[in-house]
Amino acid sequence: MSSIEIKDLDLAFGAVKVLEKLNIDVPEGEFLVLLGPSGCGKSTLLNCIAGLLDVTGGQIFIDGKNVTWEEPKDRGIGMVFQSYALYPQMTVRGNLAFGLKNAGLPKAEIEKRIARAAEILQIEPLLDRKPAALSGGQRQRVAIGRALVRDVDVFLFDEPLSNLDAKLRSELRVEIKRLHQQLKNTMVYVTHDQIEALTLADRIAVMRGGIVQQLDDPTTIYNKPTNLFVAGFIGSPA
Ligand code: ADP
Ligand code: MG
Repeated sequence: MSSIEIKDLDLAFGAVKVLEKLNIDVPEGEFLVLLGPSGCGKSTLLNCIAGLLDVTGGQIFIDGKNVTWEEPKDRGIGMVFQSYALYPQMTVRGNLAFGLKNAGLPKAEIEKRIARAAEILQIEPLLDRKPAALSGGQRQRVAIGRALVRDVDVFLFDEPLSNLDAKLRSELRVEIKRLHQQLKNTMVYVTHDQIEALTLADRIAVMRGGIVQQLDDPTTIYNKPTNLFVAGFIGSPA
């Protein structure tokens, strides 16, 4: 298990400051949702945690270790994006194995991890298919599987359900919740969807303009918003 600590994080694109002196602690095993309107800096924050963006200032600790300047692959993080980013020419099995092969894992270990992820996500019958032969929901399951096989304690999800229709969204929401209850991994989950945030989160960080407006459990956010922005954003359907 791993905690995440974000201390005084600054991120600017040139002269444009997107995150300023941002502080968030995510205890190990917590499901934290970053909720806010488009452009408020959710993906930027996630990419900083993952190491896909260099921070302008501040520090990031994972499991107590300063990873601010660590390579993404050394941070012990699995990431799932909105677009599935599967390799079209490879089977599902090939997609799941790809990163593990590159990391030099033995074949037997790769097969073991794929079997476990496939069972958890119920994608065993899909392993020999290519992405083009999968539905949107199945593809997103495979994308989650790619994070799962890495056997890491921290998952970062960036709007993983945004491209799916309402029915699939609610189905996968239930699955993601179940997955977290089973794995008890530390999760930072980005969405602009209030329902997703309220149903999935242990705590929600409501963001606006790169600043955390309120960080509380869903009941408190819903019943006791600390300002009009939070009240309006939680109250209005997506
Ligand atoms: P969100 O994920 O909440 O929709 P983002 O983190 O993607 O927001 O973007 C936050 C702000 O940073 C936006 O104003 C966006 O235009 C800007 N931004 C994001 N990526 C870049 C980039 N690579 N270069 C310049 N500006 C960017
Ligand atoms: Mg985004």
